[in-house]
Amino acid sequence: MKCRVCREKAVIDLPRHNASFCPACFDSYLMDQVWKAIDEFEMFGKNDRILVAVSGGKDSLALWDILNRLGYRTTGFHLDLGIGGYSGESLEKTRAFALRYGLTLHVESLVQEVGASVANIAELTNRPPCSACGVSKRHLFNRAAQKLECQVVATGHNLDDEASRLLGNILHWQDGYLEKQNPALPDEGGLVRKVKPLNRLTEKEMAAYAFLKGINYVVHECPMSVNAKQLFYKKIMNQVEQESPGTKQAFYFGFLDRRSRFYPEKAEEAPAYLCRECQTPSYTEVCTFCRIRLKVARSEQNQDTTA
Ligand code: SF4
Repeated sequence: MKCRVCREKAVIDLPRHNASFCPACFDSYLMDQVWKAIDEFEMFGKNDRILVAVSGGKDSLALWDILNRLGYRTTGFHLDLGIGGYSGESLEKTRAFALRYGLTLHVESLVQEVGASVANIAELTNRPPCSACGVSKRHLFNRAAQKLECQVVATGHNLDDEASRLLGNILHWQDGYLEKQNPALPDEGGLVRKVKPLNRLTEKEMAAYAFLKGINYVVHECPMSVNAKQLFYKKIMNQVEQESPGTKQAFYFGFLDRRSRFYPEKAEEAPAYLCRECQTPSYTEVCTFCRIRLKVARSEQNQDTTA
């Protein structure tokens, strides 16, 4: 197997591009894909400070590495979700990465912020764990970005994540989510800009990048993801891709090309309230995150009085 570019020995085969690459040419290809995503969706510029949401997994650590190599100004943000050994290892690997490259890392704990771990929040609020986690992350990433004077939050979602999410949204005709499925969401309604610079790269490509760069990341999936529908949709997309390489990207990029036809750009309606608890702009008197926080506090008080 020879590299498509330099004809040296290839180490990775990408059937979706009908191409193989040696380590050096794969690195150029990957950096170019990230740069294209940033440029096409005008995600950020060299003067912006970017809050990189780093979980300790391959995608977010690789993203942090790539953005630094491309010369962007970054601050890492890790949210400890309080998921036992998994969260312990995630924090440890994120800290080790920041130390290795001399990067600034800011850490917050969900247990300290809400008073419970993801699993406990889910139980006390009757929400699926990933829903409780998603609401908390959105709120705390946004708050951290404002606190740390970052103009944009970047996450490590890759092409597999986006294609499987799109499949789930289409299967259930989730118009509200489809409308917002865009790798760059503007800073509207009191929320800072949110971007996904890895949207052109697959999970396999990100794993290869992390391996070639010697990035030490958490390999296993979050234990809360066991019943997550997202994994099921990923499995389906992988089966389709196996049979017909290139389908995943055609599906996702095809949607982005047609998106404005179905969901024309419109200015987001400004939130009518400032949350009466945390003062962030909200569509309800108390924002979703604070409603979760208050419900957890009330449940704990009830448990104390009945004990
Ligand atoms: Fe959060 Fe669910 Fe992802 Fe775990 S799998 S990190 S609970 S969204």
